[in-house]
Amino acid sequence: MAHDQSTSLPKGPVLCETCKQAGQQVEMERYDPQAPANREHKHATHDTQLQTYRCPVCEETSLFKID
Ligand SMILES: [Zn+2]
Repeated sequence: MAHDQSTSLPKGPVLCETCKQAGQQVEMERYDPQAPANREHKHATHDTQLQTYRCPVCEETSLFKID
């Protein structure tokens, strides 16, 4: 799976692609790598143009470009 590709942030709710393929519509939550509880995930991007979203069901994360 390629991690160097990012898609533009959708205008509506961010739906999890993995869950969508499983027939579920799960809205992903904004994931902040700077939050104290997430300090161990520091390898996440520091680029402010990118935003990570995380699925609360399957824990998949996706990176989106902020236009
Ligand atoms: Zn999911």
